[in-house]
Amino acid sequence: MKVPFLDLKSQYQSIRQEVEQAIASVLESGQFVGGEELRRFEAEFAAYCGVRYGIGTSSGTTALHVALLACEVQPGDEVLTVPNSFIATAEAISHVGAVPVFLEVDTESYTLDPNRLEDFLRKGCRYVPRFRRLINKTSGRPVSAVVPVHLYGQPADMQPIVELARHYNLAVVEDAAQAHGASYYGQRVGSLGDMAAFSFYPGKNLGAYGDGGAVVTDSPDLAERARRLVDHGRESKYCHQEIGYNYRLDNLQAAILRVKLRHLDAWNDGRRQHAARYDELLQGVVAIPVVKKYARHVYHLYVIRTERREELREYLQSQDVATGIHYPLPLHLQPAYRFLGYRAGDFPITEKYATQVLSLPMCAELSQEQVEWVAETIRRFVV
Ligand SMILES: *Cc1c(COP(=O)(O)O)cnc(C)c1O
Repeated sequence: MKVPFLDLKSQYQSIRQEVEQAIASVLESGQFVGGEELRRFEAEFAAYCGVRYGIGTSSGTTALHVALLACEVQPGDEVLTVPNSFIATAEAISHVGAVPVFLEVDTESYTLDPNRLEDFLRKGCRYVPRFRRLINKTSGRPVSAVVPVHLYGQPADMQPIVELARHYNLAVVEDAAQAHGASYYGQRVGSLGDMAAFSFYPGKNLGAYGDGGAVVTDSPDLAERARRLVDHGRESKYCHQEIGYNYRLDNLQAAILRVKLRHLDAWNDGRRQHAARYDELLQGVVAIPVVKKYARHVYHLYVIRTERREELREYLQSQDVATGIHYPLPLHLQPAYRFLGYRAGDFPITEKYATQVLSLPMCAELSQEQVEWVAETIRRFVV
């Protein structure tokens, strides 16, 4: 049995009529940049996340960039995040001229460990009350924001993270690129920090037919700033308040995303059902995902761990089962970030997991037979 990692073609077939109608109506309207579909999508997606404001962006990376700018992260500041994420998390920090500072992750959720954050803030920094500024004692640089990543579709432990951030006057930007619809103690991601960035890269839980993203926030001020930044810093047509960017989401993608947003909960339920079946069949065979008590996990990825990762991956491939690795090389060891001066051994949990993680086929369109076949194939290899 052939099992793809992700099946976007079947998904398209299942919503083909709605999508074709939405595309046709944009083509007929002649409005491609800005327009009714974009405005509606922004409002609907913000409401979905439980906040008042949404701003479409050209990608998840530009969403993160704009969120950090709106939160007034300055060049030379330090921004705290995790080393086990997609490179875009760190890139966006670099794009504002800030410096990514990595903190180790929790062993179960693979997300920012609030205890490590607290240690870093209490011991590694000093707070200057007069300026409401936190200074990294080692580098002397101000620390201005934290970017927790809701990795694989499971939220980071946000309550202690946000509490620490409030205490030290740090902005919180959620990297929610993998977690559309996930929640934390019943509250949707996107509503947990000051701002959140989402990606609509085609393979994400909510994916466009091309690149796309959004920032969401409940703050009218942050929303206004972000909206201006994505559209050339514009106040009105030819009046530019500040130097901005062309980071807009186009009307065609917005129309497609509006259709897909209506199906997101059902698709996430499908992912969760497949994950539950994987759990049953793989429990005790390999390390399966740990779902935290606070989390509603939406399984952007279903990630197992095994010490025989490479062998298992090859075996699965030989049996026509596609897999992925998220991610093989942590951010602090990327060639692009060599200048930061990190070394192998700095983040033992992240580094060990990078050699062990394996992402199994996951999307709502898989059949139960396919999921069972993948699990059986793994059991055959291991046992
Ligand atoms: C996909 C992703 C991004 C970037 O999104 P793009 O739309 O590809 O720019 C950022 N962070 C994480 C964790 C992601 O998975």
